[in-house]
Amino acid sequence: MSSKLAIISVVGSLNVDLVTRTSRVPVGGETLTSESFDIGYGGKGANQAVACARLSRTQKQASNGESSDVEVRMVGAVGDDQFGQPFLESLRKDGLKTDRIDVLKGKTTGVAVIIVESQTGQNRIMFCPGANYDVPVTDLIDDDSSVALFQLELPMEVVLYNMKVARDKGVEVIINPAPATPLPEEAYKDLNHLIVNETEAAILSGIENPTNWDEVASIFVKRGVKNIIITLGGDGVYYQTDKLHSQSKPGKLVPAREVKVVDTTAAGDTFLGAYTVAVAHWKANPQGEFDLDSTIAYANRAASLTVQRKGAQSSIPWVDEVPQS
Ligand code: ATP
Repeated sequence: MSSKLAIISVVGSLNVDLVTRTSRVPVGGETLTSESFDIGYGGKGANQAVACARLSRTQKQASNGESSDVEVRMVGAVGDDQFGQPFLESLRKDGLKTDRIDVLKGKTTGVAVIIVESQTGQNRIMFCPGANYDVPVTDLIDDDSSVALFQLELPMEVVLYNMKVARDKGVEVIINPAPATPLPEEAYKDLNHLIVNETEAAILSGIENPTNWDEVASIFVKRGVKNIIITLGGDGVYYQTDKLHSQSKPGKLVPAREVKVVDTTAAGDTFLGAYTVAVAHWKANPQGEFDLDSTIAYANRAASLTVQRKGAQSSIPWVDEVPQS
């Protein structure tokens, strides 16, 4: 029996990172010669879309332009400046569909100017959202989508409107509310999947420095969330469901894999990508209940690869790199 194509719509930000490194930052009025300069493609939306694309195809499939059983559509906007088209080209190389990215006339692509001070290890970042903040409050979810994935780097109205659109169309909704911002009650109602890190869990639940994850999850269940996943960095992942909660059962904790950590950047985005692909496979071709336990274990394995590599998008693995167990 042939299986149905799973379609992921990632509604999110596209930013270009302009990174320069210096031993110390210049004072007002001073010009310093920096040690290096790099341009990288990022933004929470684009990073998670790349993670979805890589975790649903091999690098060979992507470089040969072969399709896989998951189509990943990035939905958002770039400007018609020097960054827009090369950004789209880079996403296509990862196997993403870019038809739903608007190239806005006279607008700039979202840019983060980042100064890394090597003496202190501190970053100074100026973020200019550009085209990201011109994404309109209209229906951005294709009817054939299996899953819609959101973050909070687009205007809140765009996210809330499209979460509702997706829900009304029967599309599975996943949100990673980063950067952490409290959400209105309506966002939680019948929400399929909420994926947060510790900081986001604290801000969204209103519990400062939480340690009792069952207590935190219980707040989200009461607001209407079905699956709550809290990533805990080197401590692994906690998760709870409305079903377990209704039976007064505690959530589960999966320890992180013991690996040599090089750079944890994009670990969360990789986790999100692996999780979203698993949901999309199940939604497009459901066979029984969604298997949350093995999805969490898989996403934990995928993210453990990212922390062993340096870089942001470049550290996100391809599907054939993730260990089977
Ligand atoms: P980022 O913003 O850096 O992408 P995040 O704060 O969103 O990360 P984390 O909770 O730090 O997300 O990490 C996500 C997942 O990555 C963890 O749940 C775990 O699976 C994996 N991970 C993170 N840190 C480690 C580590 N030190 N060792 C092994 N796995 C890790």
